Amino acid sequence: MSTPIDNGSIAIFKDLLATAQKVILVMHVNPDGDAMGASIAMAQCLRLLYPEKEMIVVSPNHYPAFLGWMEGSADVLVFKDNRKGVKEVIITSDLIICLDFNALSRLEDLGDFIASTAIARVLIDHHIQPVKEEFLLIISDINASSTSEIVYRLMQPMLKVPIPVSAAEAIMTGMMTDTNTFRDNASNPETFQVVAELLQLGVDKNKVTSNIYDNFSPSRMKLLGYALGEKMVVLPEYNTAYIALSQEELDKFNFQPGDTESFVNFPLNIKNIKVSAYISEQPDGAIRMSFRSRGNFSVNDFARAHFSGGGHRNAAGGRSTSSLSDTIAAFVAQLENYKDELQSPL
Ligand code: MN
Repeated sequence: MSTPIDNGSIAIFKDLLATAQKVILVMHVNPDGDAMGASIAMAQCLRLLYPEKEMIVVSPNHYPAFLGWMEGSADVLVFKDNRKGVKEVIITSDLIICLDFNALSRLEDLGDFIASTAIARVLIDHHIQPVKEEFLLIISDINASSTSEIVYRLMQPMLKVPIPVSAAEAIMTGMMTDTNTFRDNASNPETFQVVAELLQLGVDKNKVTSNIYDNFSPSRMKLLGYALGEKMVVLPEYNTAYIALSQEELDKFNFQPGDTESFVNFPLNIKNIKVSAYISEQPDGAIRMSFRSRGNFSVNDFARAHFSGGGHRNAAGGRSTSSLSDTIAAFVAQLENYKDELQSPL
């Protein structure tokens, strides 16, 4: 199978690393398991390769608590917590490795700051349609399960020693969470080859699984029950279901970042449901949307066309500056334009 992780790209990547002394690894806003796993794993591998260089992991805002068990997560610099300090760290760096996003806009105002510097940027990612002019080098494979898988395929041949178990666990975390535990976006035999190698490196699959999934707070579990029991709306005429939560509702359940992660997946367990959406109000009033789909319906196209977002064919995000109720109305109104596609059999 052809892979965009070709020798030419690896050679350029090595040249950029060789001349850099201080390297920033940056992930997208609201980091998920893949963004964190890929960044942390790559930093660990690069520290082994270049012990004399500095490898600094930066996130635009705080990562969810359920990822805090990964080795190295405590060292992640959070831009939102210390804008001035993180800007100083970035401005004195020589290279910025961008992981698990395809456009600097995915970093929000941290992206504006990075774009204002002249520091070379490398993209390592699996999202479609990266913004080419924003990066000096792009290592992208849209068929990879996750950026973490790409990090493994890139780092494994570069390292002269085995990938450390803690980095392998971070890679496994990214692969598991980005594929809904290997249900979606994981039809590629290479993905399972990487998983096999991670197990050979000593990853304890049960430890990783229970760290990721069996760690709900009681209030998060109750929020899930509320979301499914009281808030899920099924629209059989569009084979679509959605859940929308206001900030007031989230507050009632003592919402913590990451608490609603995976909520969008549940409606897809309903027979014949093709599209699922999770729509939530943010503390600043902005509306965030997550979309999932089964089969050929592209939520990437849908989110790009109507909700300033995008992602993958079967998993995408979007946003809206309208109110929560207006956003829901706009979402449902758009479904009417896709009725034929949504009603065709899976
Ligand atoms: Mn990803």
